[in-house]
Amino acid sequence: MLVVMRSGATEEEVERVARTIRRMGFTPHVIPGANRTAIGITGNSGPVDPHPLEGLPGVAQLIPVTKPYKLVSREFHPRPTEVGVGRAVFGDGSFQVIAGPCAVEDEAGTLRTAEYLASLGVRAFRAGAYKPRTSPYAFQGLREEGLKILESVREKFGMAIVTEVIDVETLPAVEECADMLQIGARNMQNFSLLRRAGKSSRPILLKRGMSATLEEWLLSAEYILNEGNPNVVLCERGVRTFADHTRNTLDLSVIPTVKTISHLPVIADPSHGTGRRAYVPPMSKAALACGADGLLVEVHHDPDNAISDGAQSLSLQDFKTLYEELRHLSEALGRKM
Ligand code: PEP
Ligand code: MN
Repeated sequence: MLVVMRSGATEEEVERVARTIRRMGFTPHVIPGANRTAIGITGNSGPVDPHPLEGLPGVAQLIPVTKPYKLVSREFHPRPTEVGVGRAVFGDGSFQVIAGPCAVEDEAGTLRTAEYLASLGVRAFRAGAYKPRTSPYAFQGLREEGLKILESVREKFGMAIVTEVIDVETLPAVEECADMLQIGARNMQNFSLLRRAGKSSRPILLKRGMSATLEEWLLSAEYILNEGNPNVVLCERGVRTFADHTRNTLDLSVIPTVKTISHLPVIADPSHGTGRRAYVPPMSKAALACGADGLLVEVHHDPDNAISDGAQSLSLQDFKTLYEELRHLSEALGRKM
C-alpha cells in the first residue's frame, strides 16, 4: 500500500504515519515528492488493513499496491534511479557501454583489449574472473589472479570494472576489486547471494534469468533493494525460447516494459542475447533505439581463439565500427554517450 499525504502535510504528520506503520508490524518508506510526500509499506504478506491509517491527520489517500514487488516499482519511486559506476552513470538519460572479453584469460590480452576500449572512450570494462560454466571441465576463470589483472586495468586506463560474482564465499574478494558486481543469469534466483549483494556498497548488475518472467526478475532486484542497496541496474541477456537461430532470444520488448513499471536502469546484452557476433551490432542499435540505458558487449582481441564465448565476441575493429555507429545514432536520438 501507498499512503499519499496532503500537500503541506507536516513532518510530524508524516512521522506519525510512519510510526503507525511500524506499530502494525510493517516497514515504512518515506518517498518525498515535488508536491506531496508518499509513504510506501513493505513487509506485509497480504492486503494492509487501512483502518489505522485512513483517519490520521495529513493523510490524503490510500492506494493499494497489487504487485508483489514494491521498492523497485515506479509507484514507490516515481523518478528514475541513477546508478554511478566510475565515470559512467546509468539511468540519467545517457547511453553507457560496458565492453570487454567474456573472461580474463591472461594479462597481456586483457590489457590490450582494455587499452583499445579506453582509447575509444569506453568508461566501463567487463571480464569475468570467476566464470559460471555449464561444464565442470570448462575453464572456470583465473579467480584471484584475474581480479588482480582487472585492478591493473582500472589503474592503467581509468575504466570502471564490472565483473561477475558467483557465490557468497568469494563475494568479499570481488567486492574489493570491482566497481560493479555482476550477478549472472544462472544466479538470478540465488537468494542468499542476492541478500548479500543487498548489503554491498557496490552497485549491482542483475542479469535476467534464462527463463525468468519480468515479475521474477524484478522480485530478485527487490531482494537487493530490500537489504538496503538501491543501486541496481537490470540487464536483459536473452531468454530460452523454441527459436534456435540464435543462442537465446533477446527480449527487447522488456526494455520499455521495465521502464514503465520500474525506476531502475535497464541495459541489454546482445552478445549472450544472440550468441553470434554478426547479430550484435544490429541488436545493439535496436537496444539504443528502444530506450535501453546502455549495453554490455563482449569484445576480444582475437575472438576466434577466445577461451569462452568467442563466437559472440566482436573484434576490436568491429567494436570500433559499432561504437561509432552508436555515437551517431545516440546523437540523432538526443542521447548522450
Ligand atoms: C557473462 O556475462 O559472461 C555471462 C556469463 O552472462 P550470463 O550470466 O548472461 O550468461
Ligand atoms: Mn560470456
